[in-house]
Amino acid sequence: MSIKILLRMRPEESMYRKALIDLVKNARGNYVVLSSGYFQSNVVAMVNDLSNTIDYFLSASMKNKIILVGADFISCDGKTDCNHCEFYNFVQALENKYASQVIVYDVPNMTKLKKGRANPWHAKMAFKFDGNSPTATIIGSSNVTSSAVFDWGTNGFCKHECDLYISEHDISLSSSLEDPLSCISVILDDQNPYTEKQLLETAYQEIKEVIDEIK
Ligand SMILES: [Zn+2]
Repeated sequence: MSIKILLRMRPEESMYRKALIDLVKNARGNYVVLSSGYFQSNVVAMVNDLSNTIDYFLSASMKNKIILVGADFISCDGKTDCNHCEFYNFVQALENKYASQVIVYDVPNMTKLKKGRANPWHAKMAFKFDGNSPTATIIGSSNVTSSAVFDWGTNGFCKHECDLYISEHDISLSSSLEDPLSCISVILDDQNPYTEKQLLETAYQEIKEVIDEIK
């Protein structure tokens, strides 16, 4: 088991994108869930390493699915970066190739909020599932937007994001910046000879024995 904290302080490199690629490519399972407050279509159109990884995953087996969970926006606001159209353009880019493998949850219209937003959905999460078991997750502040996913030039703009990446596999993310803050490995107890997964198994077995006794 591996836990990394990813901090984006500089525009040159998106460790969030690297984590997303690692999750889609290297974690076990047939389902990828991608949840975001905003999706931008240029992420699939222009970010080759990420879109190639999604292509690779979906084309490997018809059993592989991608589930997109996004906020619905009531209608087109006519602007070039309209959130409503960007979300459906993102969906369309994947559905054009893999219609039956793309599942969309556009959280349905609820109370109309300010800015014409149809609902307050704003969770940023990625999961990989093997059957019903989660095998990896990224939980964070990064949306699936160019701001968070692109590498920008030194003078580019990025928001300062923080994402937590947890996986049962050993995560290996290299930073070209060699920035000590960009990827922090969390070791829960480096004196302990057991892995976190073994400790979780032990805790689970102990709880299960107690429950079985009560029964
Ligand atoms: Zn629009």
